[in-house]
Amino acid sequence: MEKSLETIVAWAKRRGFAYPGSDIYGGLANAWDLGPYGTEIKRNIEHVWWTYFVQQRDDIIGLDSQILMNPKVWEASGHVAWFSDPLIDCKKCKSRERADKLIEDTITSKNMTLESIQAVVAVTTITPEAWDFEQQTTFLTGFKVKCPKCGSCDWAEPKKFNLMFKTQQGVIEGQGTDIYLRPETAQGIFVNFRNILDTTRSRIPFGIAQIGKAFRNEITPGNFMFRVREFYQMEIEYFVENDTEKGLESFEAWKNASKKRWKEEIGIKEENMRFRDHDQDELSFYSKGTCDVEYLFPRGWGELQGIAYRTDYDLKQHMEHSGKDLQYNDPYTGKRYIPHCIEPSRGLTRAILTALIDAYDEEKYTDGNGAEQTRIVARFHKNIAPVKFAVIPLVKKDEKIVGFAEDLYRKLSKQYMCEFDDSGNVGKCYRRQDEIGTPYCITVDYQTLEDGTVTIRDRDTMEQKRIKPEEIIL
Ligand code: ATP
Repeated sequence: MEKSLETIVAWAKRRGFAYPGSDIYGGLANAWDLGPYGTEIKRNIEHVWWTYFVQQRDDIIGLDSQILMNPKVWEASGHVAWFSDPLIDCKKCKSRERADKLIEDTITSKNMTLESIQAVVAVTTITPEAWDFEQQTTFLTGFKVKCPKCGSCDWAEPKKFNLMFKTQQGVIEGQGTDIYLRPETAQGIFVNFRNILDTTRSRIPFGIAQIGKAFRNEITPGNFMFRVREFYQMEIEYFVENDTEKGLESFEAWKNASKKRWKEEIGIKEENMRFRDHDQDELSFYSKGTCDVEYLFPRGWGELQGIAYRTDYDLKQHMEHSGKDLQYNDPYTGKRYIPHCIEPSRGLTRAILTALIDAYDEEKYTDGNGAEQTRIVARFHKNIAPVKFAVIPLVKKDEKIVGFAEDLYRKLSKQYMCEFDDSGNVGKCYRRQDEIGTPYCITVDYQTLEDGTVTIRDRDTMEQKRIKPEEIIL
């Protein structure tokens, strides 16, 4: 089924998954608040991730570091110098675009190959993010790329635009210190590496996991929650010996684990995912490998997760800039070294968007009167469905039926997120629950009062069967 982003946005707003930020004031560009059901999905994705990686693994521990950090952190990490996008201005209508994204869109829409690009620009990779300004300018002029707003081909030279949000610390305007809202959660992990070594029994190889907000002053946001300025990340820094062979082994293991986790945790369909290894010349100078986990969004492939083998770059940088010893002392061999690090870094906000898109379905079926109907059904994996059970008394005027249903609802709510719906129209209740992706609806009726059984309806098959309340499991 073709799913347009417009359909997904309309459904998400209508059913309370996401609302435009600051809505009553006309919104704020590209800001989205999670509604009640979106909030549940977020909590569920976090929960399964944390349970698997932190709770069930002996070698990964959690952390919750600050959004505001000492500005020296961002000098050490390279963000002050390098964390920027190449921007170009249209000389005619003055609109501002990200050069690499505009080029990427042109390559995709014209189905260009590396060979066809090389006829005009001397590049060795088809990924424009890895090109320099001169190569980007040559492409834009050589292929006469038009401004998406006014159609002109008259572009100014690309400029660097740092993506970090700057703010001030201090109470007097103009006299405070410039600080940044973190553009990634990872650096909070590196700066706590020493603390973790000193206060826990962690031994290499081990990882540190963190979930939190990150901020980027993106110039071409859009695509609903795909590219926003404020978003959540779920990151792990996994430290291994300073040995490239062992590092590459761990990098491969993380790639394989990630493939499995997207499917098993969130139920993302395999055919909608791909794994893209970066070419050698796309890699940062310190990196020994990077792999993007991509999803087929309605507007094309986009990154969900980046898995990067960052060697000892980050710890080394922080050791130099802070003057603190961030080496690891191996208790078994007595060796002292700066560990290498693998970073499987996921976007949680993008994972929520992906879960919404992947789950959305429209299905034709024949109703009890033989008429053809269409239903919208969100086929969320049970792990992440915002509501697990809806309890529906079929006869709302019968106190005994309603009482039984209420008791059952209270009991199930101790363990699961549930809804109680006594509006009286069971067909409407089913449609609503299908649209928010509730795996099971449970109805209570006269037969319940006679034999204690309830009817359970499966969201995906619409099959109904009678069971005892004790048999209800997710
Ligand atoms: P992109 O190429 O899409 O800009 P990136 O390579 O800059 O992403 P990373 O720095 O590797 O992204 O960040 C890790 C993850 O954080 C990404 O895989 C993505 O899921 C998420 N992410 C990054 N930027 C944004 C954003 N502006 N809005 C929502 N999620 C984001």
